Amino acid sequence: MLCAGKKDLFASTLDKTGCNRMMLAAGAWSGLLTLNYHRIGEPGATLFDRELWSATLENFEQQVIFLKTHFDLIGPDDLYDVLQSDRGRFAMITFDDGYRDNYELAFPTLQDLNVPATFFLSTGFLDHPRVPWWDEISWIIRSSSCPFIHIEGWVDNPIQITAATENDSPDTPSPIDAAVHQLLRLYKSLSIEQTEPFLNQLGETCGTGRAPESVADELWMTWDMVREMRDAGMFFGGHTVQHPILASLPPEGQDREIGECARRLEEELGERCATFSYPVGRPETFDEVTRACLIEHGFQWSFSYYGGYQKSGPADNLNLPRTPVEIDMDLSRIHSIAALPQLFA
Ligand SMILES: [Zn+2]
Repeated sequence: MLCAGKKDLFASTLDKTGCNRMMLAAGAWSGLLTLNYHRIGEPGATLFDRELWSATLENFEQQVIFLKTHFDLIGPDDLYDVLQSDRGRFAMITFDDGYRDNYELAFPTLQDLNVPATFFLSTGFLDHPRVPWWDEISWIIRSSSCPFIHIEGWVDNPIQITAATENDSPDTPSPIDAAVHQLLRLYKSLSIEQTEPFLNQLGETCGTGRAPESVADELWMTWDMVREMRDAGMFFGGHTVQHPILASLPPEGQDREIGECARRLEEELGERCATFSYPVGRPETFDEVTRACLIEHGFQWSFSYYGGYQKSGPADNLNLPRTPVEIDMDLSRIHSIAALPQLFA
């Protein structure tokens, strides 16, 4: 497995030597490549989770133009035929969560270029806007004036939460970015009963308290925006109600999160949605109960989020792979993902 730095170097070499272009033209693979985005734009000095920004608007535009040139870009309506087909190279652009910049920035670009994308919504964020756990962890840490925090009972050692200084290498994350990353990882390992006590104690330790609801006022799309996008050719799917890690819930909790999400989408869009994406999306975040609930509530396809692409041939419809697009990827990385997903996706 290549590390990120070596991947960048290799990707730019493949680009410069014309190998990516050659492999794309030769059709070195067939199947479905699904890219996943979260937020578009510039994170700047945001207090929210900066890892959620997938591309600047300019880079997103370049990526969509490139994808449109080299792929048949599809939506969920084409999945059945594409997954049956043993030839052809297809790509799907997807977004998770339902952030408002998807409407304000990504949608106009997609519309101008006449390209479909699929947006997976956590319906509870649209219905009752609030700060999700990953943004809240980042908000608490970045709003704190403490240089160090010790979250007793949860983390063994004190954690430094200061911004980078001139002495820090620009190649390593600043202490505050590393702290956010560490606490997000910790949160993902908690059981559902532990999550609220953890956030309460984090807010108390940092001296900020929990993030106020008003912070989320313009964070999410509204249902009117969703309908406008749908009417312009965009697609929507489910991503639960409150974005829990499904496998950490008891069966009735999973059923509620999936069933209520399906119901709200149908109520607002006037039709059932057949596609879903798992919150967090790693293999351990969904299980057999999740699959049974999806089928029960009418979802036919579900996307994971731990890399890879779907080769032509038999597919697991409830574990379709997706590869993340991240803000530090340059265009040569995107070219390499498209030319050689076996290595880069
Ligand atoms: Zn998500």
